[in-house]
Amino acid sequence: MKRFDVAVVGGGPGGASAGWAAARGGADAVVIEKGVPRADREGLGPDSTDAAGMLDYWVDMMALPEGVPEHVILRDIEGAAFRGPTESVTLESTSIPASYPNFGFAFHRARFDDWLREEAETAGTEYRVGLGVRDVTHEKSAGSESGYTHTLTLRDGTEIVADYLILADGPQRTITTGVLESFTDAPVADLLGSRRANHIAYQEHREFPEELFDPRYLAFWWGVIPGHTAYPWIFPNDGTVARVGLTMPIDLDLDSVPDRETYRLLRPEDDRVPPGREYVRRLLDAEYPAYDVDRDFPLVEDRGKRGGVESYPISSTRPIDSPCGAGIAVVGGAMGATSAFHEGGDHVAVRTGKIAGSLASAGVLEAYNREWKRAIGTEVIRNVAFADLVRDFSPADWDRSIGTVRRMVNRGGIGLREALSAGYDGARLFARYKRRKFDYRDDRYVGIAGSDYSV
Ligand SMILES: Cc1cc2nc3c(=O)[nH]c(=O)nc-3n(C[C@H](O)[C@H](O)[C@H](O)COP(=O)(O)OP(=O)(O)OC[C@H]3O[C@@H](n4cnc5c(N)ncnc54)[C@H](O)[C@@H]3O)c2cc1C
Repeated sequence: MKRFDVAVVGGGPGGASAGWAAARGGADAVVIEKGVPRADREGLGPDSTDAAGMLDYWVDMMALPEGVPEHVILRDIEGAAFRGPTESVTLESTSIPASYPNFGFAFHRARFDDWLREEAETAGTEYRVGLGVRDVTHEKSAGSESGYTHTLTLRDGTEIVADYLILADGPQRTITTGVLESFTDAPVADLLGSRRANHIAYQEHREFPEELFDPRYLAFWWGVIPGHTAYPWIFPNDGTVARVGLTMPIDLDLDSVPDRETYRLLRPEDDRVPPGREYVRRLLDAEYPAYDVDRDFPLVEDRGKRGGVESYPISSTRPIDSPCGAGIAVVGGAMGATSAFHEGGDHVAVRTGKIAGSLASAGVLEAYNREWKRAIGTEVIRNVAFADLVRDFSPADWDRSIGTVRRMVNRGGIGLREALSAGYDGARLFARYKRRKFDYRDDRYVGIAGSDYSV
């Protein structure tokens, strides 16, 4: 049975960053990744399913010791287009101060994860891939720096013991849910259950006809498929390849959707929510009616998980605190740091992983709940408030809001002044957003609070 200072479950951006920071802080750290096969990686690695767009200020939020290397970045992006059923607006600024010179970039997620893994290994972390963690138990222990000893059992029965446990097992929370249940009476499985707390995301890597490919903008369609924060997207990658995908709630009952006929990508004959591949086909058909999807947008089969296609859940819940008094931190997608509104989550996974790893290596993980809020709290409140604001939006609401934002942008930007000058709708939208943010003051956006745990 090998003993480590810090054991990390999951080797995605959250887990690799935790291992990296722990090793930089001088800890003996191990990252355990169950291993997922992908067409765009040799050998097993983390899951790495991602539309892989990074905004300018997210780069600052990651607070990496060095920039993201060039071989990871596919292309710089100049802005994002938001399309409603009839309205659209293109934003060329995130309106948040940032040091990255462009709006953002599209990147190769498998290479991003491999780079983080390499950095973690270079710093001295042991990164084990190929065997998942099956179970974790905890025991109070005077001899452990955290006051607890955590025993991890891998799929082959191997045991690993650690003073600190960092859970970076992503939105499926294969280990996180059970661990948290040992420390709280809060209904963890209810709050974090995959079908309730997650969306499903599906995407295809497709080659576009050159005349249709716009390398400058990420494109999102709002109000064209039903479901809270459900939307398709096109993200330009390298060459004329784009990721075409969508995210939507799991198990949405079509019978519960009012005014179904107003959603552009639904058909009268649908008796259930169409699968992701069907939505992608309908999006391409609707946007480019003169083209044939199979002939003109071929799948790029050596990308994605298999055959140019991939699917994975996205956490769409509010973030949770951790039982850090027991030497445990939950980071990234597992803690619900991913935005339910726009699904951006790599930056907060990296940042929360780094915070947990460095606090554990310094023997002060108790500070984790305070420190993650200090680092990403503003971003999380913004995203949670936006997700709430658009709850129950109909296609007409999307059109109205996108039209309002377009008028604001035409008046010079997105702020109070522009909102007021965009008329009644602008002022109302701005006021509702501020109200939501106010409702979440004093950490009220947290799904399970630190005080809900007994350690
Ligand atoms: C289709 C899609 C598009 C997205 N687009 C964007 C985007 O454009 N920009 C952005 O910033 N974010 C995006 N996200 C969100 C982003 O991918 C996540 O927020 C991010 O992956 C979270 O990182 P993580 O390390 O916390 O978790 P994950 O990346 O989910 O990593 C968790 C890892 O844990 C491993 N694991 C799970 N259980 C075990 C176990 N028991 N033992 C060992 N290993 C285990 C898994 O194999 C996985 O590799 C997207 C997500 C999806 C699915």
